[in-house]
Amino acid sequence: MSTLFVAQAVYEAMRTHGEETYPHECCGVLLGNPGPDGWRVTEATRTANTCTDSARNRYQIAPIELVRIQRIARDKGLEIAGFYHSHPDHPAQWSSTDLAEAHWLECSYVITAVAQGKATVTNSFLLAGQTEEDKRFEDQAIEIEG
Ligand SMILES: [Zn+2]
Repeated sequence: MSTLFVAQAVYEAMRTHGEETYPHECCGVLLGNPGPDGWRVTEATRTANTCTDSARNRYQIAPIELVRIQRIARDKGLEIAGFYHSHPDHPAQWSSTDLAEAHWLECSYVITAVAQGKATVTNSFLLAGQTEEDKRFEDQAIEIEG
């Protein structure tokens, strides 16, 4: 199993974000650098959920916002390591929509379950595969770094 290394402040910020937007989904982008044994996430950027009508069920980050984030990350010497979102009153497991809308191969997708407004389980999934056709989510361990 691969591992996602996340700075403690980032881990907490993701979970807090999910609590703040409850009962709607939150979403954001994870920034960091690739290490020998996996991404090391050192920053997270909150993004607006553009699907406000169905924010309970799905999330989407506007492409133009993604381009802007990528530029800011590059200026800091960071790369997009993955994405995070919350599942209000649903388990921290990916949905078929999550997989369909995930396009960044070898990046991490982190999901936090928020039950009754409180963040519970946080899981990470690596988008594995070589192409859009054979992409799949693989369970990933999360290691929190102080
Ligand atoms: Zn989801």
